[in-house]
Amino acid sequence: MNKYDTELVRSILVNHGFQYTDNRENADVLLINTCGVREHAENRALSDISRMLRWKEQKPGRIVGMIGCLSTLIGENLLKSRPEVDLAIGPDAYRRLPDILNEIISGKSIHSILDIHPSLDETYSDIIPAREPGVRAWLAVNRGCDNRCSYCMVPLARGRVRNRPAAEVINEVKLLITEGYPEVVLLGQNVNAYCTDSIGFGGLLRKVADVPGLKRVRFLTSHPKDFDDDLVEALAEGGIICPDIHLPVQSGSDRILKAMNRGYTRSHYLELIEKLRSKVDGIAFSTDAIVGFPGETDEDFQQTLSLFDEVNYASGFVFRYSPRPGTTSFDWDDDVSEQCKTERLIQLNEALGHSRSKIHSSLIGKTISVLIEGHSPKHPEHMTGRSVQGYIVALPVGNLHSGDIVTAVIEKVSGFTLLGKVV
Ligand code: SAH
Ligand code: SF4
Repeated sequence: MNKYDTELVRSILVNHGFQYTDNRENADVLLINTCGVREHAENRALSDISRMLRWKEQKPGRIVGMIGCLSTLIGENLLKSRPEVDLAIGPDAYRRLPDILNEIISGKSIHSILDIHPSLDETYSDIIPAREPGVRAWLAVNRGCDNRCSYCMVPLARGRVRNRPAAEVINEVKLLITEGYPEVVLLGQNVNAYCTDSIGFGGLLRKVADVPGLKRVRFLTSHPKDFDDDLVEALAEGGIICPDIHLPVQSGSDRILKAMNRGYTRSHYLELIEKLRSKVDGIAFSTDAIVGFPGETDEDFQQTLSLFDEVNYASGFVFRYSPRPGTTSFDWDDDVSEQCKTERLIQLNEALGHSRSKIHSSLIGKTISVLIEGHSPKHPEHMTGRSVQGYIVALPVGNLHSGDIVTAVIEKVSGFTLLGKVV
């Protein structure tokens, strides 16, 4: 979502007479787009800000700003403690950026500018992001989140859900096809909560899949409690909808899921996985999990581990619990030791490694469809691409070009990559 937001910001600025450069020595303004989900991301952003302030000192007139979720969380304090930072802008205030920068440049504004209030209606629907060229385009269909997971700061930073009208999403998909993108990834913090007067997420996905010329569509991130039967059916219908589902479980223990306020149980989650597996050919699942949530006992953790074994994820992200100011669980005792969090993190990552290799080994000898993305950075004799499930596949360069969709037979596995040849 931040990658997409960065493209939005670039488009807003370029449309107002600013120029983009990826060389900071040529730049007059340096903005950092930030994530506030974990303290680790916050610390990294703050050390980047320190580096950016050193860059600012080297030439008069340079401007430094923080944009994104972290601004909402810490922007006010940041501007007090580091008044050399010129602005801190939340994810709903990007339209104001050109005016804000012009005010600072013209000297009209002598103080740092703060705008961090989530909006009720901003969707940036009329703005076409300045995307990087490639085979995959990100496209947000909704913004914000109406859930209140007890650990999560996203709703504080991004506000309530706002859905873009389906017609606008479809028009943007048509534009992306004319620009040559074969694949679109529909985005939302809780993408499958998408809902307008006339259509739910399953309906939107079918409409996108029906746009002539599009080769693949995926979506991120689905919430288990909002994964309705219509969406399951849309996936079962197949076509260009990729059987690649990111379905964060967070924990396998009902007690912890309840404390997290996730709104589903372990058995509901597993039933959903089973339903999808029985209806959608070759479906692959990935997940997010948090270890060391307040009160997580060994027994709770074993439940997560056994759920990982049961599901057989193709990939996943495991995070150490990080207390975030303003969230419900911030006031709870962060009582799982750092060492224990580390051990649990390692165990879940090992479980992910096992399931990934099981899945990868089962693909040897099979043929799969691969959308070529580009040259392998480490092995120039290979092009890499992805299967519909999202598996990374490397193939000898031959006559391949990015954007090609080819059928390949898998011959072996190397780390995270499947090696094969075109058939
Ligand atoms: N909307 C998505 C995820 C948003 S944040 C969803 O509901 O699944 C991405 C991931 O960060 C989450 O899935 C969660 O695993 C992790 N996360 C969020 N807040 C966290 C916290 N306070 N500590 C550790 N991990 C966290
Ligand atoms: Fe955060 Fe929960 Fe919303 Fe995901 S669904 S963004 S974890 S509040």
